[in-house]
Amino acid sequence: MKYDYLIVGAGLYGAVFAYEANRRGKKCLVVEKRNHIAGNIYCEEIHDIQVHKYGAHIFHTSNKEIWDYVNQFAEFNNYINSPIAKYKDELYNLPFNMNTFSKMWGISTPQEAKEIINNQIRELNITNPQNLEEQALSLVGTDVYEKLIKGYTEKQWGRECKELPAFIIKRLPLRFVYDNNYFNDRYQGIPIGGYTKIVEKMLEGIEVRLNTDYLVNKETLCDVADKVIYTGMIDQYFDYRLGVLEYRSVRFETEELNLENYQGNAVVNYTERDVPYTRIIEHKHFEFGKQPNTIISREYSSEWKKGDEPYYPVNNDKNDALYAEYKKLADSEGKVIFGGRLGAYKYYDMDKVIDAALQMCREELI
Ligand SMILES: Cc1cc2nc3c(=O)[nH]c(=O)nc-3n(C[C@H](O)[C@H](O)[C@H](O)COP(=O)(O)OP(=O)(O)OC[C@H]3O[C@@H](n4cnc5c(N)ncnc54)[C@H](O)[C@@H]3O)c2cc1C
Repeated sequence: MKYDYLIVGAGLYGAVFAYEANRRGKKCLVVEKRNHIAGNIYCEEIHDIQVHKYGAHIFHTSNKEIWDYVNQFAEFNNYINSPIAKYKDELYNLPFNMNTFSKMWGISTPQEAKEIINNQIRELNITNPQNLEEQALSLVGTDVYEKLIKGYTEKQWGRECKELPAFIIKRLPLRFVYDNNYFNDRYQGIPIGGYTKIVEKMLEGIEVRLNTDYLVNKETLCDVADKVIYTGMIDQYFDYRLGVLEYRSVRFETEELNLENYQGNAVVNYTERDVPYTRIIEHKHFEFGKQPNTIISREYSSEWKKGDEPYYPVNNDKNDALYAEYKKLADSEGKVIFGGRLGAYKYYDMDKVIDAALQMCREELI
Protein backbone atom coordinates (compact mmCIF):
# COMPACT_ATOMS: atom_id res chain seq x y z
CA MET A 1 0.00 0.00 0.00
CA LYS A 2 1.34 3.38 -1.01
CA TYR A 3 -0.89 5.46 1.27
CA ASP A 4 -2.38 5.05 4.71
CA TYR A 5 -5.55 6.86 3.65
CA LEU A 6 -7.30 7.56 0.39
CA ILE A 7 -9.67 10.46 0.96
CA VAL A 8 -12.49 10.78 -1.55
CA GLY A 9 -13.65 14.40 -1.77
CA ALA A 10 -11.70 17.59 -1.05
CA GLY A 11 -14.60 19.27 0.80
CA LEU A 12 -14.41 20.41 4.41
CA TYR A 13 -14.89 16.94 5.89
CA GLY A 14 -12.23 15.32 3.73
CA ALA A 15 -9.82 18.23 4.22
CA VAL A 16 -10.11 18.19 8.03
CA PHE A 17 -9.46 14.46 8.05
CA ALA A 18 -6.50 14.79 5.65
CA TYR A 19 -5.00 17.60 7.73
CA GLU A 20 -5.30 15.68 10.99
CA ALA A 21 -3.99 12.43 9.50
CA ASN A 22 -1.09 14.19 7.78
CA ARG A 23 0.05 15.94 10.94
CA ARG A 24 0.09 12.56 12.68
CA GLY A 25 2.48 11.29 10.03
CA LYS A 26 -0.07 9.35 7.96
CA LYS A 27 0.41 9.35 4.21
CA CYS A 28 -2.72 10.59 2.44
CA LEU A 29 -3.98 10.88 -1.10
CA VAL A 30 -7.02 13.08 -1.77
CA VAL A 31 -9.06 12.53 -4.94
CA GLU A 32 -11.67 15.06 -6.02
CA LYS A 33 -13.95 14.72 -9.00
CA ARG A 34 -14.39 18.46 -9.51
CA ASN A 35 -11.67 20.66 -10.97
CA HIS A 36 -11.14 22.46 -7.66
CA ILE A 37 -10.79 21.78 -3.94
CA ALA A 38 -13.08 22.93 -1.08
CA GLY A 39 -16.31 21.18 -2.14
CA ASN A 40 -19.36 23.33 -1.61
CA ILE A 41 -17.56 26.03 0.34
CA TYR A 42 -15.47 26.83 -2.73
CA CYS A 43 -15.09 30.54 -3.48
CA GLU A 44 -13.86 31.73 -6.84
CA GLU A 45 -12.16 35.11 -6.96
CA ILE A 46 -13.61 37.15 -9.80
CA HIS A 47 -12.37 40.73 -10.19
CA ASP A 48 -11.26 40.82 -6.58
CA ILE A 49 -14.65 39.55 -5.30
CA GLN A 50 -14.96 36.19 -3.54
CA VAL A 51 -17.89 34.49 -5.26
CA HIS A 52 -19.52 31.70 -3.23
CA LYS A 53 -20.01 29.31 -6.15
CA TYR A 54 -22.28 26.80 -4.41
CA GLY A 55 -24.41 29.20 -2.40
CA ALA A 56 -23.76 31.79 0.28
CA HIS A 57 -21.80 30.48 3.25
CA ILE A 58 -21.67 32.20 6.61
CA PHE A 59 -19.64 30.58 9.33
CA HIS A 60 -21.41 30.57 12.69
CA THR A 61 -21.00 28.46 15.78
CA SER A 62 -21.35 28.44 19.54
CA ASN A 63 -18.65 25.81 19.87
CA LYS A 64 -15.49 27.60 21.03
CA GLU A 65 -13.31 24.60 20.21
CA ILE A 66 -14.48 24.60 16.58
CA TRP A 67 -14.18 28.38 16.31
CA ASP A 68 -10.57 28.24 17.55
CA TYR A 69 -9.90 25.31 15.24
CA VAL A 70 -11.10 27.06 12.09
CA ASN A 71 -9.30 30.28 13.06
CA GLN A 72 -5.98 28.44 12.68
CA PHE A 73 -6.59 28.46 8.96
CA ALA A 74 -8.01 31.94 8.36
CA GLU A 75 -8.76 35.25 9.93
CA PHE A 76 -12.49 35.94 10.08
CA ASN A 77 -14.10 39.32 9.57
CA ASN A 78 -16.98 40.68 11.68
CA TYR A 79 -19.76 40.04 9.15
CA ILE A 80 -23.15 39.51 10.79
CA ASN A 81 -25.84 37.93 8.66
CA SER A 82 -28.88 40.22 8.52
CA PRO A 83 -30.97 39.25 5.51
CA ILE A 84 -33.72 41.37 4.03
CA ALA A 85 -37.01 39.97 2.77
CA LYS A 86 -38.66 41.55 -0.26
CA TYR A 87 -42.39 40.97 -0.64
CA LYS A 88 -43.83 42.90 -3.62
CA ASP A 89 -42.51 46.41 -2.98
CA GLU A 90 -42.25 45.96 0.77
CA LEU A 91 -38.93 45.33 2.52
CA TYR A 92 -38.64 43.60 5.89
CA ASN A 93 -35.80 42.66 8.19
CA LEU A 94 -35.17 39.03 9.01
CA PRO A 95 -35.25 37.05 11.21
CA PHE A 96 -38.75 37.95 12.41
CA ASN A 97 -38.06 40.59 15.03
CA MET A 98 -39.32 43.96 16.26
CA ASN A 99 -37.94 45.70 13.14
CA THR A 100 -40.07 43.33 11.01
CA PHE A 101 -43.19 43.80 13.13
CA SER A 102 -42.79 47.55 13.41
CA LYS A 103 -42.59 47.85 9.59
CA MET A 104 -45.48 45.43 9.06
CA TRP A 105 -47.98 46.99 11.46
CA GLY A 106 -46.62 50.46 12.30
CA ILE A 107 -46.23 49.53 15.97
CA SER A 108 -43.28 50.05 18.30
CA THR A 109 -43.57 47.90 21.42
CA PRO A 110 -43.21 44.15 21.99
CA GLN A 111 -46.58 44.15 23.74
CA GLU A 112 -48.31 45.52 20.62
CA ALA A 113 -46.56 42.98 18.39
CA LYS A 114 -47.44 40.06 20.65
CA GLU A 115 -51.05 41.17 20.83
CA ILE A 116 -51.41 41.31 17.04
CA ILE A 117 -49.76 37.91 16.54
CA ASN A 118 -51.71 36.25 19.34
CA ASN A 119 -55.01 37.68 18.06
CA GLN A 120 -54.31 36.34 14.57
CA ILE A 121 -53.39 32.92 15.96
CA ARG A 122 -56.52 32.86 18.16
CA GLU A 123 -58.83 33.79 15.28
CA LEU A 124 -57.45 30.94 13.15
CA ASN A 125 -58.16 28.46 15.95
CA ILE A 126 -55.92 25.70 14.56
CA THR A 127 -55.58 23.02 17.21
CA ASN A 128 -54.08 20.13 15.31
CA PRO A 129 -52.09 21.35 12.27
CA GLN A 130 -52.49 18.96 9.34
CA ASN A 131 -49.95 20.49 6.96
CA LEU A 132 -47.13 23.03 6.82
CA GLU A 133 -49.51 25.92 6.14
CA GLU A 134 -51.59 25.22 9.23
CA GLN A 135 -48.48 24.62 11.30
CA ALA A 136 -46.90 27.95 10.28
CA LEU A 137 -50.17 29.85 10.70
CA SER A 138 -50.61 28.44 14.20
CA LEU A 139 -47.11 29.63 15.12
CA VAL A 140 -46.91 33.15 13.63
CA GLY A 141 -50.39 34.18 12.51
CA THR A 142 -51.63 35.31 9.10
CA ASP A 143 -49.53 38.35 8.13
CA VAL A 144 -46.06 36.97 8.77
CA TYR A 145 -47.05 33.69 7.13
CA GLU A 146 -48.62 35.22 4.01
CA LYS A 147 -45.89 37.80 3.39
CA LEU A 148 -42.72 36.13 4.57
CA ILE A 149 -43.14 32.36 4.70
CA LYS A 150 -45.69 31.04 2.21
CA GLY A 151 -44.20 31.99 -1.18
CA TYR A 152 -40.60 31.38 -0.14
CA THR A 153 -41.32 27.92 1.26
CA GLU A 154 -43.38 26.95 -1.79
CA LYS A 155 -40.50 27.91 -4.07
CA GLN A 156 -38.01 26.05 -1.89
CA TRP A 157 -39.99 22.82 -1.99
CA GLY A 158 -41.65 23.22 -5.37
CA ARG A 159 -45.02 22.46 -3.78
CA GLU A 160 -47.85 24.30 -2.05
CA CYS A 161 -47.54 24.68 1.72
CA LYS A 162 -50.89 22.90 2.04
CA GLU A 163 -49.33 19.82 0.44
CA LEU A 164 -46.24 19.83 2.62
CA PRO A 165 -46.10 17.95 5.92
CA ALA A 166 -46.35 19.97 9.13
CA PHE A 167 -43.14 18.54 10.63
CA ILE A 168 -40.92 20.48 8.20
CA ILE A 169 -41.48 23.53 10.38
CA LYS A 170 -41.09 22.64 14.03
CA ARG A 171 -40.46 26.13 15.37
CA LEU A 172 -40.59 29.61 13.90
CA PRO A 173 -38.63 31.81 16.26
CA LEU A 174 -40.13 35.25 16.83
CA ARG A 175 -37.87 37.82 18.46
CA PHE A 176 -39.45 40.58 20.44
CA VAL A 177 -36.28 42.69 20.41
CA TYR A 178 -34.86 44.96 17.71
CA ASP A 179 -32.15 42.55 16.56
CA ASN A 180 -31.49 41.65 12.91
CA ASN A 181 -28.68 39.17 13.57
CA TYR A 182 -29.97 36.04 11.83
CA PHE A 183 -27.99 33.60 13.96
CA ASN A 184 -28.05 33.13 17.72
CA ASP A 185 -24.52 31.75 17.80
CA ARG A 186 -21.71 33.23 19.85
CA TYR A 187 -19.21 33.36 16.95
CA GLN A 188 -19.84 34.42 13.36
CA GLY A 189 -17.94 35.72 10.34
CA ILE A 190 -16.55 35.22 6.85
CA PRO A 191 -12.94 34.15 6.32
CA ILE A 192 -11.00 37.09 4.88
CA GLY A 193 -9.95 36.10 1.37
CA GLY A 194 -12.61 33.37 1.05
CA TYR A 195 -13.20 29.78 2.14
CA THR A 196 -11.01 28.13 -0.48
CA LYS A 197 -7.91 29.36 1.35
CA ILE A 198 -8.95 27.43 4.48
CA VAL A 199 -9.02 24.16 2.58
CA GLU A 200 -5.83 25.06 0.71
CA LYS A 201 -4.07 25.42 4.05
CA MET A 202 -5.51 22.17 5.37
CA LEU A 203 -4.27 20.32 2.30
CA GLU A 204 -0.79 21.88 2.25
CA GLY A 205 1.82 19.17 1.64
CA ILE A 206 -0.80 16.52 0.81
CA GLU A 207 -1.13 14.95 -2.64
CA VAL A 208 -4.40 15.99 -4.28
CA ARG A 209 -5.69 14.71 -7.62
CA LEU A 210 -8.43 16.85 -9.14
CA ASN A 211 -10.81 15.72 -11.90
CA THR A 212 -10.63 12.22 -10.47
CA ASP A 213 -13.88 10.42 -9.77
CA TYR A 214 -13.25 7.61 -7.30
CA LEU A 215 -16.19 5.55 -8.50
CA VAL A 216 -15.01 5.70 -12.10
CA ASN A 217 -11.43 4.82 -11.11
CA LYS A 218 -12.30 2.41 -8.30
CA GLU A 219 -10.35 -0.49 -9.72
CA THR A 220 -7.07 1.39 -9.80
CA LEU A 221 -7.67 3.36 -6.62
CA CYS A 222 -9.09 0.77 -4.27
CA ASP A 223 -5.72 -0.83 -3.57
CA VAL A 224 -3.59 2.27 -3.14
CA ALA A 225 -4.41 2.81 0.55
CA ASP A 226 -5.09 0.81 3.69
CA LYS A 227 -8.30 2.72 4.29
CA VAL A 228 -10.70 4.94 2.38
CA ILE A 229 -12.55 7.99 3.73
CA TYR A 230 -15.47 8.43 1.37
CA THR A 231 -17.38 11.75 1.39
CA GLY A 232 -19.43 11.27 -1.78
CA MET A 233 -23.08 10.15 -2.03
CA ILE A 234 -23.65 6.92 -0.12
CA ASP A 235 -26.29 5.57 -2.52
CA GLN A 236 -24.10 6.27 -5.54
CA TYR A 237 -21.24 4.35 -3.91
CA PHE A 238 -23.49 1.28 -3.87
CA ASP A 239 -24.66 1.98 -7.40
CA TYR A 240 -28.15 2.88 -6.10
CA ARG A 241 -28.84 -0.80 -5.60
CA LEU A 242 -31.44 -0.19 -2.87
CA GLY A 243 -32.96 2.91 -4.47
CA VAL A 244 -32.19 6.61 -4.89
CA LEU A 245 -32.00 9.04 -1.97
CA GLU A 246 -33.72 12.34 -2.74
CA TYR A 247 -32.26 15.84 -2.56
CA ARG A 248 -33.36 19.36 -3.34
CA SER A 249 -31.08 21.15 -5.72
CA VAL A 250 -30.33 24.81 -6.40
CA ARG A 251 -29.51 26.51 -9.68
CA PHE A 252 -27.41 29.66 -9.57
CA GLU A 253 -27.49 32.41 -12.17
CA THR A 254 -24.45 34.57 -11.59
CA GLU A 255 -24.00 37.93 -13.23
CA GLU A 256 -21.39 40.68 -13.04
CA LEU A 257 -22.83 44.18 -13.03
CA ASN A 258 -21.10 47.40 -13.87
CA LEU A 259 -22.43 48.94 -10.70
CA GLU A 260 -20.88 49.55 -7.31
CA ASN A 261 -23.78 48.37 -5.19
CA TYR A 262 -26.83 46.47 -6.47
CA GLN A 263 -28.97 45.72 -3.42
CA GLY A 264 -27.15 47.14 -0.38
CA ASN A 265 -27.07 43.82 1.44
CA ALA A 266 -25.42 40.42 0.97
CA VAL A 267 -28.69 38.46 1.15
CA VAL A 268 -32.15 39.48 -0.07
CA ASN A 269 -34.89 36.84 0.08
CA TYR A 270 -37.75 37.15 -2.42
CA THR A 271 -40.74 35.86 -0.50
CA GLU A 272 -43.34 36.27 -3.25
CA ARG A 273 -44.27 33.10 -5.13
CA ASP A 274 -44.39 34.90 -8.49
CA VAL A 275 -40.72 35.88 -8.42
CA PRO A 276 -39.06 32.67 -9.67
CA TYR A 277 -35.88 32.87 -7.60
CA THR A 278 -35.70 32.53 -3.83
CA ARG A 279 -32.78 34.83 -3.08
CA ILE A 280 -30.26 37.20 -4.59
CA ILE A 281 -26.78 37.12 -3.10
CA GLU A 282 -24.48 40.10 -3.63
CA HIS A 283 -21.12 38.55 -2.83
CA LYS A 284 -19.00 41.64 -2.17
CA HIS A 285 -21.05 42.57 0.92
CA PHE A 286 -19.79 39.49 2.77
CA GLU A 287 -16.40 41.20 2.83
CA PHE A 288 -17.54 44.84 2.90
CA GLY A 289 -16.14 45.16 -0.64
CA LYS A 290 -15.55 48.56 -2.23
CA GLN A 291 -14.85 47.38 -5.80
CA PRO A 292 -16.31 49.51 -8.62
CA ASN A 293 -18.31 46.53 -9.93
CA THR A 294 -20.43 43.86 -8.27
CA ILE A 295 -21.40 40.20 -8.73
CA ILE A 296 -24.83 38.83 -7.90
CA SER A 297 -26.27 35.30 -7.92
CA ARG A 298 -29.94 34.52 -8.27
CA GLU A 299 -30.86 31.22 -6.59
CA TYR A 300 -33.55 28.98 -8.04
CA SER A 301 -34.62 26.02 -5.96
CA SER A 302 -35.15 22.92 -8.08
CA GLU A 303 -36.08 19.26 -8.00
CA TRP A 304 -33.00 17.07 -7.95
CA LYS A 305 -32.45 14.25 -10.39
CA LYS A 306 -29.50 11.91 -10.84
CA GLY A 307 -26.54 13.83 -12.24
CA ASP A 308 -27.59 17.18 -10.71
CA GLU A 309 -25.65 18.72 -7.86
CA PRO A 310 -27.21 17.38 -4.64
CA TYR A 311 -27.67 20.19 -2.08
CA TYR A 312 -30.24 19.51 0.62
CA PRO A 313 -31.10 15.95 1.71
CA VAL A 314 -34.84 15.41 1.99
CA ASN A 315 -34.92 13.78 5.41
CA ASN A 316 -38.46 12.39 5.39
CA ASP A 317 -39.39 8.93 6.73
CA LYS A 318 -38.97 7.25 3.35
CA ASN A 319 -35.48 8.59 2.70
CA ASP A 320 -34.32 8.14 6.28
CA ALA A 321 -35.39 4.48 6.16
CA LEU A 322 -33.55 4.01 2.86
CA TYR A 323 -30.46 5.71 4.29
CA ALA A 324 -30.58 3.34 7.29
CA GLU A 325 -30.40 0.40 4.86
CA TYR A 326 -27.44 1.94 3.03
CA LYS A 327 -25.78 2.62 6.39
CA LYS A 328 -25.93 -1.11 7.15
CA LEU A 329 -24.16 -1.82 3.86
CA ALA A 330 -21.63 0.92 4.62
CA ASP A 331 -20.87 -0.52 8.05
CA SER A 332 -19.99 -3.85 6.46
CA GLU A 333 -17.59 -2.24 3.93
CA GLY A 334 -14.48 -3.09 6.01
CA LYS A 335 -11.92 -0.53 4.98
CA VAL A 336 -14.22 2.31 3.91
CA ILE A 337 -15.44 5.02 6.31
CA PHE A 338 -18.35 7.15 5.11
CA GLY A 339 -18.60 10.77 6.25
CA GLY A 340 -19.58 14.34 5.42
CA ARG A 341 -22.96 15.59 4.25
CA LEU A 342 -23.25 13.18 1.31
CA GLY A 343 -21.77 10.14 3.03
CA ALA A 344 -24.03 10.60 6.06
CA TYR A 345 -27.05 11.92 4.07
CA LYS A 346 -27.42 14.74 6.52
CA TYR A 347 -27.54 18.52 6.33
CA TYR A 348 -24.49 19.75 8.22
CA ASP A 349 -23.51 23.35 8.78
CA MET A 350 -19.78 23.90 8.43
CA ASP A 351 -19.10 23.88 12.17
CA LYS A 352 -20.98 20.58 12.49
CA VAL A 353 -19.10 18.98 9.61
CA ILE A 354 -15.77 19.98 11.19
CA ASP A 355 -16.97 18.60 14.51
CA ALA A 356 -18.03 15.32 12.89
CA ALA A 357 -14.69 15.00 11.07
CA LEU A 358 -12.72 15.67 14.26
CA GLN A 359 -14.82 13.12 16.12
CA MET A 360 -14.01 10.55 13.44
CA CYS A 361 -10.31 11.47 13.68
CA ARG A 362 -10.42 10.78 17.43
CA GLU A 363 -11.81 7.32 16.75
CA GLU A 364 -9.63 6.51 13.76
CA LEU A 365 -6.27 8.19 14.28
CA ILE A 366 -5.12 6.77 17.56
C1 LIG B 1 -26.79 26.19 -0.56
C2 LIG B 1 -26.05 25.88 0.72
C3 LIG B 1 -25.73 26.90 1.59
C4 LIG B 1 -25.04 26.61 2.77
N1 LIG B 1 -24.77 27.64 3.63
C5 LIG B 1 -24.11 27.39 4.78
C6 LIG B 1 -23.86 28.44 5.71
O1 LIG B 1 -24.22 29.61 5.49
N2 LIG B 1 -23.22 28.13 6.86
C7 LIG B 1 -22.80 26.84 7.16
O2 LIG B 1 -22.22 26.62 8.22
N3 LIG B 1 -23.03 25.84 6.27
C8 LIG B 1 -23.67 26.07 5.11
N4 LIG B 1 -23.90 25.04 4.23
C9 LIG B 1 -23.36 23.68 4.52
C10 LIG B 1 -21.93 23.45 3.98
O3 LIG B 1 -21.92 23.59 2.58
C11 LIG B 1 -21.47 22.03 4.38
O4 LIG B 1 -21.37 21.95 5.78
C12 LIG B 1 -20.12 21.59 3.82
O5 LIG B 1 -19.89 21.96 2.51
C13 LIG B 1 -20.03 20.06 3.91
O6 LIG B 1 -18.74 19.61 3.55
P1 LIG B 1 -18.56 18.12 3.04
O7 LIG B 1 -17.08 17.91 2.92
O8 LIG B 1 -19.33 17.17 3.85
O9 LIG B 1 -19.26 18.06 1.60
P2 LIG B 1 -18.87 18.76 0.19
O10 LIG B 1 -18.45 20.16 0.38
O11 LIG B 1 -19.98 18.48 -0.72
O12 LIG B 1 -17.60 17.91 -0.26
C14 LIG B 1 -17.70 16.63 -0.83
C15 LIG B 1 -16.72 16.57 -2.00
O13 LIG B 1 -16.64 15.24 -2.47
C16 LIG B 1 -16.52 15.27 -3.88
N5 LIG B 1 -16.95 13.96 -4.39
C17 LIG B 1 -18.19 13.41 -4.31
N6 LIG B 1 -18.19 12.20 -4.90
C18 LIG B 1 -16.92 11.98 -5.35
C19 LIG B 1 -16.31 10.92 -6.06
N7 LIG B 1 -17.01 9.82 -6.43
N8 LIG B 1 -14.98 11.01 -6.37
C20 LIG B 1 -14.29 12.13 -6.02
N9 LIG B 1 -14.82 13.17 -5.36
C21 LIG B 1 -16.12 13.10 -5.02
C22 LIG B 1 -17.47 16.40 -4.27
O14 LIG B 1 -17.17 16.87 -5.56
C23 LIG B 1 -17.17 17.42 -3.17
O15 LIG B 1 -16.14 18.31 -3.55
C24 LIG B 1 -24.64 25.29 3.07
C25 LIG B 1 -24.99 24.26 2.19
C26 LIG B 1 -25.69 24.54 1.04
C27 LIG B 1 -26.08 23.40 0.14
